[in-house]
Amino acid sequence: MSDVQIDLFGDVVGQSRAVAQLRAALARPVHGYLFVGPPGSSKSAASLGFAAGLVCPNGGCGQCDSCARAMRGVHPDISTIERTGAAITVDEIRDVTTRALRRPVEGVRQVLIIDDVHLALRSAPALLKTLEEPPSKTVFVLTAEDVAPGLATIASRCAVITFSALGEAGVAEWLIRRGVEPLHARLVAAGAAGDLQRAELLADDADYLVRLARWRDVPSRLDGSGAAAAVAAEELLGSLDDALEPLRRHHGAELSALEDEARQRGERGLPGRKEIVERHQRAERRWRTDELRSGLAVLQRAYRDRLRAVLEQLDDQPGSPGLLEEAQRDATAVERISSASAALSRNVQAPLLLASLLAQLETVS
Ligand SMILES: [Zn+2]
Repeated sequence: MSDVQIDLFGDVVGQSRAVAQLRAALARPVHGYLFVGPPGSSKSAASLGFAAGLVCPNGGCGQCDSCARAMRGVHPDISTIERTGAAITVDEIRDVTTRALRRPVEGVRQVLIIDDVHLALRSAPALLKTLEEPPSKTVFVLTAEDVAPGLATIASRCAVITFSALGEAGVAEWLIRRGVEPLHARLVAAGAAGDLQRAELLADDADYLVRLARWRDVPSRLDGSGAAAAVAAEELLGSLDDALEPLRRHHGAELSALEDEARQRGERGLPGRKEIVERHQRAERRWRTDELRSGLAVLQRAYRDRLRAVLEQLDDQPGSPGLLEEAQRDATAVERISSASAALSRNVQAPLLLASLLAQLETVS
């Protein structure tokens, strides 16, 4: 025992309900848990803390050597299975099954954390089979962004713990606690869509506010000439590329750290390098889409603000034909942006989407 008290759930942000459920579960754990929640909702931090509690000989004391090692990610009875490709493969699940049958190294029990099971497409039946014949000293902690239909049976074999998306206020508060200046924290939270990882990168991104302004200024720049829309679309596309830079740097640093570790272990090259690079590429594609979605939200807010101002003027000059027309245009713009956001979920490519949206906004401006 040491004097240092570790809060096993100290890195979990704004999920008091889920944390209370997990703390209670530590007393009498069942064999499987499914954490469901959007990206960046602290599921990983929670699964680590929960696993630490499960393998601790004192039920999650936060003071013993077992807890300390678990929280550093080096406990032999906790394994995290991360997919290496776009989906969890049948081979990866086979590996899980083999591991599940092993005895715990230190005695109490072992924990297998499997992330992104919403991506266990073809391997779901194999995973289900393992969950249905649970080895007595193994606890499974699965995480997923949602319970897709193919996952319903797996969910029914687990205790489901729900993680909610953090609101803007929650993200801002978290940033402020980490030393980000309050006004900046609120602006970053507005673009983070409840995702803490995204918020963290944006907070360190000096150009974030410049990009924000570029989106916000679009309405005032569209002059109806046709040329302005094309120029603005081009610039916003450039913004999306700029936005990727901090994430790329982060990925580059992660890769060199892993390569250093491999070298110190005496390996030639980094095992699984290709898969790591592919994971980075997927994250970068997702990041670009998130950035576009967040930009569209800023643009929409700009038109909403304009609409509100026009409606206030209309209060003073009821029935003014000019103002009515203006209100109609801004309302149409708000609607068009909603449709563009919806198209984003259907995988419409960014260049096409922006060019067509801005051309439409230009004609209503
Ligand atoms: Zn402990």
